[in-house]
Amino acid sequence: MGSDCLFCRIVAGEIPATVVRETETTLAFRDIDPKAPVHVLVIPKEHYADIATLAQGDPALAADVLATSAAVAEDEGLLGDGFRLMFNTGAYGGQEVFHVHAHLLGGAPLGPMLARDLG
Ligand code: 5GP
Ligand code: ZN
Repeated sequence: MGSDCLFCRIVAGEIPATVVRETETTLAFRDIDPKAPVHVLVIPKEHYADIATLAQGDPALAADVLATSAAVAEDEGLLGDGFRLMFNTGAYGGQEVFHVHAHLLGGAPLGPMLARDLG
């Protein structure tokens, strides 16, 4: 993947990002177009297209993404009031960047889980 993938390029330092936490296997950086007062993306450094591929291919790495997400939530002061952790996946999930990323959202009440009732 590498040069064709936006988030691989962020991992490689080719595109700047506001990094809030880095581990050996993961990177957390602020979303360029935040949808909440806190909006951080948490990714594995290794390229996997989506959460299903990651969870099936390397469950330990998926766990690293969750652990980093929790650490960032703590750093950002979100543990008391709560937060949302989301993996948009594929076409129906609205995924736009096909390098798996957790959206960590918080800092204000986030409203209903979905913008509209699918009935
Ligand atoms: P998705 O729709 O794939 O779940 O989310 C992709 C997210 O990546 C969006 O929230 C979008 O704002 C964010 N994003 C897209 N390009 C960049 C970028 O170059 N830098 C950063 N930090 N975030 C980006
Ligand atoms: Zn990638």
